[in-house]
Amino acid sequence: MHRRLRNVLQRNFHFLEPTFVAGLLDDPVLLLRNHPFGDNLLFDCGQLHHLAKRILKRIDTIFISHAHMDHFAGMTTLTRNILVAPKTVDLYGPAGLSERLEHLLAGFDWNLSEDFWCSFRVHEIDQNSVRHFLLPGPDRFRRRFEDETERHDSIILRNRQLQVGTALCDHKIPSAIYRIDELPSFGLDPEKMASMRLAHGQWIQTFKDRFKQGELENGPLTVLVEADGAPQERLIDDVPAFYQQLKLEQQPLSIGYVTDVGFTKENREKIGSLLHGIDLLICECSYIAADVDKARESHHLCSTDLNQLMTELLPSCVMPIHLSKLYTDNCQQVLQELQPPDGCHLLQLPERIVPRPLLPNEIPLPEIKPDRGND
Ligand SMILES: [Zn+2]
Repeated sequence: MHRRLRNVLQRNFHFLEPTFVAGLLDDPVLLLRNHPFGDNLLFDCGQLHHLAKRILKRIDTIFISHAHMDHFAGMTTLTRNILVAPKTVDLYGPAGLSERLEHLLAGFDWNLSEDFWCSFRVHEIDQNSVRHFLLPGPDRFRRRFEDETERHDSIILRNRQLQVGTALCDHKIPSAIYRIDELPSFGLDPEKMASMRLAHGQWIQTFKDRFKQGELENGPLTVLVEADGAPQERLIDDVPAFYQQLKLEQQPLSIGYVTDVGFTKENREKIGSLLHGIDLLICECSYIAADVDKARESHHLCSTDLNQLMTELLPSCVMPIHLSKLYTDNCQQVLQELQPPDGCHLLQLPERIVPRPLLPNEIPLPEIKPDRGND
């Protein structure tokens, strides 16, 4: 099997474990667990009432595509579970998101609020800027504008392990699509080390620490080199170039998250430019081909649209999500219409993560014994 595909299928990301915690018909939620750092990322906040409190409490960053109810209603469940955690959760999404969240949470009485309650910091993405708002729990989640920062590229978040990029597509309202890239981790190639006669020692840990702190350029590095059986110190001046010579070749993986976008020329250009070269595409497929008019009317994608996106983006894996409830009894029809190109593999979710309630005729009847009393 192709190594990259195997990596995606076995979730062999360096840090990230993509976990789709909603089924085909459930309101979308993608959880990205960030190992071993424990700060988990959530993409959309649909159906998540089945998630354990310990999982919800470890979510630090949330990316919302748009504030339609099926993508945002889970925020009340999330808030209920993390309310007394003394932390600030970051939310990214289109303009207007902070007002939506403020109104959503204003639906409750907060007269018992405490100083240690959680807060939300909302980052509203606009074409060329990001506006930042704070909704502090101790102040009953009343919204305050903090500041506005300029945006020069698609990247809205970058830390040592990953970066997240975005583009605003048209869904009759702005809907954000996201790209998550793992960043290369520190790694030295043992063969390259041997060919340069480098000896193991404390200098490797120092080298690693400087890489992690983004401080490779901050001065020379003392390394150990084998010489006549006894390691000797040598000073390396150009440490970034030294790392380039020694580094282990890696192919960090990337994920694209696309939901609730119209199949317009402008949207397709934005999707193509943000998501080129991704490994795993997680994408809505709301309608079957015969219902293309419904897809166009509501600015959603149908199966033939996703087929075209797969052909253009050529990811190793595609996971369709967010089927219309029209197909509750017929999910397979949507999936059968999907035709991934060569080298692209379809990952199929169950219809629902949490079982639907039983209908009366599905409840097994107890065995009824003959009533002897009236014999
Ligand atoms: Zn929508």
